[in-house]
Amino acid sequence: MPVEIEQFMCRSDNFGVLMRDPETGDVALIDAPEEKPILEAIERTGWQPKLLLITHHHADHVEANLALKERFGLKIIGPEAEAAKIPGIDDTVREGSTIDFGNEEIQVLDTPGHTAGHVSYYLPHSGVLFAADTLFALGCGRLLECPPAVMYESLKKLSDLPSDTVVYCGHEYTLSNAQFALTVDPDNKVLQERARKVEALRADNRPTLPTTIGEELATNPFLRWADPAIRAHLGMQQASSDEVFAEIRRRKDNF
Ligand code: ZN
Ligand code: FE
Repeated sequence: MPVEIEQFMCRSDNFGVLMRDPETGDVALIDAPEEKPILEAIERTGWQPKLLLITHHHADHVEANLALKERFGLKIIGPEAEAAKIPGIDDTVREGSTIDFGNEEIQVLDTPGHTAGHVSYYLPHSGVLFAADTLFALGCGRLLECPPAVMYESLKKLSDLPSDTVVYCGHEYTLSNAQFALTVDPDNKVLQERARKVEALRADNRPTLPTTIGEELATNPFLRWADPAIRAHLGMQQASSDEVFAEIRRRKDNF
């Protein structure tokens, strides 16, 4: 049976996620943006985590590490390359690492770009990906520690996952991402339709996540480097895919 998931807001626009294996009752938390809403989610669900999976070192993903560790004695796992910056870390992982969780295996994917050591967590059996600040709905993370080609490779890796993979992300940025996406891919009907849905959800204060790899491939300009219409719009018909990605990222930074 696939994992059960509880997604909730933290801070102003971060997501917290609890997941539970329905067969074994094991619970993990993905990132620790803020203590109070996490405790409320644990209270609401009755799901007490014994594992905390960290994607990268930014404060809005690790702030509650020590408080939660003290309260629940949970084990903290995070990227080897950022271990020194992750409070309370017990175990490190990297590309190819696996983590036992309930009756299934979590696979670790290196997805640098937003930070140099960012990892994503993939559950092939459940078909779930936790991409944090690498891939957003209709967007991708800002390139704070890496050149564009590094992020391009990470996004390419994620875009090769099965299209029905359900994707959880670190932030609710979808509305502004949609507004930007329409500027580089204005004639994409699927994108136009999605932008309308996103507007309606946000007007209702409802989350736009999770998404799927398939939905992102159809609408997220940061995965659509090969699309002829986007290339024509940018005047980059002959450019390499990572150059197209870099130009879209540059435009978003100035949007
Ligand atoms: Zn971040
Ligand atoms: Fe973040």
